[in-house]
Amino acid sequence: MPALLLTNDDGVHAAGLAALEQALAELGDAYVLAPEREQSACGHALTLHRPLRVDRLGERRFGVNGTPSDCVNLGVLGFLPERPVLVVAGVNHGTNLGDDVTYSGTVSAAMEGTLLGVPSIAVSLAAGGDLAVAAEVARLIALRVLVTGLPPKTLLNVNVPGEPPRGIRLTRLGHRVYTGKIVEQTDPRGRPHYWIGAGEPEWEGLQGTDMGALHEGYVSITPLHLDLTNHRAFDQLADFSRSLDAQYRPATRKRARSE
Ligand code: MN
Repeated sequence: MPALLLTNDDGVHAAGLAALEQALAELGDAYVLAPEREQSACGHALTLHRPLRVDRLGERRFGVNGTPSDCVNLGVLGFLPERPVLVVAGVNHGTNLGDDVTYSGTVSAAMEGTLLGVPSIAVSLAAGGDLAVAAEVARLIALRVLVTGLPPKTLLNVNVPGEPPRGIRLTRLGHRVYTGKIVEQTDPRGRPHYWIGAGEPEWEGLQGTDMGALHEGYVSITPLHLDLTNHRAFDQLADFSRSLDAQYRPATRKRARSE
């Protein structure tokens, strides 16, 4: 059976990971390689300045003192007996929608798999949702990805609603409206401290977005591309770049002469 790599950012003991492990067992040898502690909102961080330790917790179950991306890096680049054919991150406790995906350890794990050339899926479940339902959705999508593959440099970000899904929709990322403010408070010694990320997020128009699909009770599948170049910006920035280049070149020449 082909090797599958499962990870998450809620930690190796999270119920969402166990549900995923159970649901994907029939598709291959499911290896769990996940952070030993919760790492939510760790983004795409890699641990490069200290060694990583791996604790064996079961036949194919391992806890790592690192991030989700560390786990995928380890798993794809040689820790497992064979290279995995699929990376699945989740089932995350809570949604990963819109502009928030860049903070997400769950989505970043799928980004890491994609960058290393392995088809990857991130799966998240809204509050109040049923883990067994989310794991079954993950199994269906994983099976389809194993059969048909994914477009180059593309991962699937899957969000499952908090109620029984009415169906599955292909969506784009929604965008947050940043109306919130930082919260400043004073500690018992009179020193100020600050909270960020407080308050309820607001979103731009929901039509066609991941947030919109969840709102209407559908599973959202958003294809995310890892080529961050904005190809459409080339036209708009061509003059900008040419004039910068013209401005910059004389200085370069002068320095070259004086050396
Ligand atoms: Mn999480």
